[in-house]
Amino acid sequence: MRITAIETIHVRRGITVHWGPIQWLWVRIHTDTGLVGLGETYPRPDAEKAIVHHALAPVLLGRDPAEIDKLWLDMFRAVSYSGWGGAEMRAISAIDVALWDLAGKAANVPIYQLLGGASRDSIRTYNTCYDHIDFMKEPVRLARELKAAGVNAMKIWPFDGVAVETGGNFISADQMRQGLEPLRLIREEFGDSMDVAMEFHGYWNLPCAIKIAQAVEAYSPMWLEEMLPQDNLTAYRELAATTSLPLCVSERLMTRYGFRELFENQAARIVMPDICWCGGISEAKKIAIMAETWYLPIAPHNCGGPVLHAASLHLAANVPNLYILESVRRHYGDEYIGVVSNPIPSVNGSFPLPPGPGLGIELLPEVLSRPDVSIERSDLR
Ligand SMILES: [Mg+2]
Repeated sequence: MRITAIETIHVRRGITVHWGPIQWLWVRIHTDTGLVGLGETYPRPDAEKAIVHHALAPVLLGRDPAEIDKLWLDMFRAVSYSGWGGAEMRAISAIDVALWDLAGKAANVPIYQLLGGASRDSIRTYNTCYDHIDFMKEPVRLARELKAAGVNAMKIWPFDGVAVETGGNFISADQMRQGLEPLRLIREEFGDSMDVAMEFHGYWNLPCAIKIAQAVEAYSPMWLEEMLPQDNLTAYRELAATTSLPLCVSERLMTRYGFRELFENQAARIVMPDICWCGGISEAKKIAIMAETWYLPIAPHNCGGPVLHAASLHLAANVPNLYILESVRRHYGDEYIGVVSNPIPSVNGSFPLPPGPGLGIELLPEVLSRPDVSIERSDLR
């Protein structure tokens, strides 16, 4: 099999959050057998697709897509003159997912079978609450709806509003009380029957993070995620020493080299690679194995488009050390509908093993003619 063309499909979507527009980039790898592999990255498609066409396509065109490890290394060498990271690694991630999709299709099996088979019958999930119900205003109603759907774990970020107000530099006693309120109300109503992960999006300085971690301890959250930015892991170690709660770090880290520092630093108790950022399925599997050697679980970051969702399910099906998989009911129940052939919804708080072959999903043809979609293609000459 030979790679004959690489296509990028940029979906503008028109959705903007406080840090910018949320857009998806899909990559399709065409071959001389007619099989097509699908990959994805986000959230800056203009930069990512430039890397795909100008830096990665010259490496890939004409090559055998089954040689995934060799292609990964050649792509990495083509862009790694300044270390790892950024749009370069996100672009490699998208290509890598598409290569695994092709490998699965060529073998006519789901990707998780190629990774070593299933380690479980179903995949437990928590709901990240980008939702039609605002967790700041109606946390109990939101938690009740989730529980009714069998979802007994959720993630909220009730301190973000304060962090944006104060730049993450300080927090008053009143602001602390406001931030704690949703978690307090959920505990009051449901006791310990709902797991609640607390997300901080890297907004806080170290003294505030220590103070908040101490204040939330009484409510036993499932974890504290990204309390600090991720550029100084030594500071994370100091934070870890002040709390008995597990810290979850790393959705923005890339490659096994970036994660090596995280493991050696020993601050994170839950490891959160994003397949479409860290270097693809290949790299996420390696990171999961590295985590195993430190007796740490992974909880893959899954808050992008429908291809990341499917890829995350395959990784989560396979790795022995899965803690729980992120998902967003508004994504698989709404935003992925009409976009892919199978949005793979959760059933009773968990996902079934994902179908195959490959990822087990395809873009619906009508997506390609949407007015907010632009397609570019690099062909083998
Ligand atoms: Mg996060």
